[in-house]
Amino acid sequence: MTPDICPNCGADIPPGARVCPECGSDEQTGWSEEAYASGLDLPDEEFDYDEFLAREFGGGTPKEKRARRWRWVLVLVMLGLLLYYLWP
Ligand SMILES: [Zn+2]
Repeated sequence: MTPDICPNCGADIPPGARVCPECGSDEQTGWSEEAYASGLDLPDEEFDYDEFLAREFGGGTPKEKRARRWRWVLVLVMLGLLLYYLWP
């Protein structure tokens, strides 16, 4: 995974870039997962952002997907009822 900021020199990494444009570090030499985590002073394994994204936007088990869909259906129905009753 590519960090937003180079853990080696602190330069901004363009989205999708494989190598730091400033210092040339890459996954092999510079921003291994360990380097990235320690560079940001994050506790290990505390929060998996990729897993969070996958869970919230499209990933997850079929059961989780179904639950998420029903949650949205419920929200839409509630909004519809609200509009129906409050519409002048
Ligand atoms: Zn760099």
